[in-house]
Amino acid sequence: MDERVQCAVADCLKPTAAIFCGQFYCRGHFIVTCYERLDFCADLLRTRNFSQQTSEEMRKFIAECTQQAAKLSETAKDLNHIERARLLDILFYASDIGRHMRRSPRKSLAIPVRLQCESPAREWQEDTCTRSLSRYGGMFECQHEVKPDDVLVVKHLDAGRSAPARFVWGWRARSGSFVVALEFTDCDNFWEFDWTESPADSVLSQPSSA
Ligand SMILES: [Zn+2]
Repeated sequence: MDERVQCAVADCLKPTAAIFCGQFYCRGHFIVTCYERLDFCADLLRTRNFSQQTSEEMRKFIAECTQQAAKLSETAKDLNHIERARLLDILFYASDIGRHMRRSPRKSLAIPVRLQCESPAREWQEDTCTRSLSRYGGMFECQHEVKPDDVLVVKHLDAGRSAPARFVWGWRARSGSFVVALEFTDCDNFWEFDWTESPADSVLSQPSSA
């Protein structure tokens, strides 16, 4: 980023890290702004009272948010643990809203799962844990690279049930492992949680509480 450009938030002198909706933001304000606007989209979606044009604007915004958050988590060298977790959460949040045009709360839970890839000539399976989950899918870290057209099955190791899933996004993290978000293709509530939103679920989406 051009160091001469200032963060769009008044009086902030931190170096800019991302461009978003035509404005530059430092890393902290980018994260806060993403959450505010994703929450705004989610609230608007809940009312179901928006025009086709607004819907298009939301899709564009969600795509930009995803692209910038992914870029930042790939390229920023000095991310701390909390910033990394928030960027991943933003990606997961944005992908849920973008694909379903509705919100599901996310839960940061480590549930043991087996990921199976059943693509011809690319079969593998690996036991790992969820990093985060929503009504529609989950975010995982694994050693195998997951590709956009892979035929995938997620097995819940404690409950013994399985469901087909597909790739939403993923990349190889600096640690060498692959971070991937999957959504279920044929299962409405795989995790069998009550997804009614409670304040405790959205702790991660409220940066000011940290
Ligand atoms: Zn700033």
